[in-house]
Amino acid sequence: MDLDLLRSTLDELEQPRFRFDQIWKWTAGGAAGYHEMSNLPAALRAELTERVPFSTLHQVRRATASDGTEKLLLTTHDGRPIETVLMRYKDGRRSICVSSQSGCPLTCTFCATGQMKFGRNLTAWEILDQALALRRLDVLNHCVFMGMGEPMMNLDNVLEVCRRLPDLGITHRRTGISTVGWVPGIDALADSDVPVRLAWSLHAPQDELRSQIMPVNDRYSLADVKAACDRFYEKRRKMIFVEYVMLAGVNDSVAQARQLADLLEPWKYKVNLIPYNPTDSIYDGSAKGSMDAFRDTLEDRGFNATIRLIRGRDIDAACGQLAAKAAA
Ligand code: SAH
Repeated sequence: MDLDLLRSTLDELEQPRFRFDQIWKWTAGGAAGYHEMSNLPAALRAELTERVPFSTLHQVRRATASDGTEKLLLTTHDGRPIETVLMRYKDGRRSICVSSQSGCPLTCTFCATGQMKFGRNLTAWEILDQALALRRLDVLNHCVFMGMGEPMMNLDNVLEVCRRLPDLGITHRRTGISTVGWVPGIDALADSDVPVRLAWSLHAPQDELRSQIMPVNDRYSLADVKAACDRFYEKRRKMIFVEYVMLAGVNDSVAQARQLADLLEPWKYKVNLIPYNPTDSIYDGSAKGSMDAFRDTLEDRGFNATIRLIRGRDIDAACGQLAAKAAA
């Protein structure tokens, strides 16, 4: 829902100020439409249905994986495809993964989104509407900006959404923004009023290899990004998550685990090892034995390191698989 349009429409209709909050409360609580908002006058509900689309996005498809993960394929008014995912865990965690751009201008070689054409930045309302569409399916309590796109290249809109997420049940400490290491964005987030978590997609402990698999490294080197993350830590005193996708024979040796340990401090950085989800790329995922050895090496050096659970792979909803093939 375009909340700017809602506000201006309510003003034009000379509605009292509390109407906005009433409508937002229903919407954030998972209402299916204006018709459910029983404390609004019927005439106003009809007027809003005409003038303020309940969502800025159109739902094209919904897929449910065998593990309960749900993926929605959505399009914007100008036909841009977006995918968004809800992950359900046995402990009650309900985590959503939202997209900040349609496509992505960065060209990480292992990522399906990086291989599709870049569309554009999403508006705050297009990002928020992904979360609201998933809120209509379930209660929510965690959010990561790990869908399509680079959130730091659209940070103002991402922050606008973060400020609203608590109304959907998602607190700031359960919200994470993931970045390739877009330095100006990391600094801007550290200076913002929004105390969310930071995740850095690191993926290779040396510049040469990192530039090969993530061309953006030529612009912001490991040392540049590390310095920005350290500044973030100094300001926020919150551990930073390091994401590390495990590519067989590329970045998964014990020697590379040691290089990674040399690069980071275990009290500042928590490492998440991500099993590689096959896309149309030249890579294979690491064997379980290599991932375990990599994690053990980090743990021996005092790091908190975990191997991420795979979710939603059978519906192409796993990390790096979001590419909206059907709508492209
Ligand atoms: N642009 C941001 C957020 C989107 S990607 C970023 O790069 O952080 C979210 C995470 O999924 C990143 O860590 C990304 O490197 C990882 N990823 C991309 N493709 C993947 C794949 N095929 N398998 C596993 N993880 C992948």
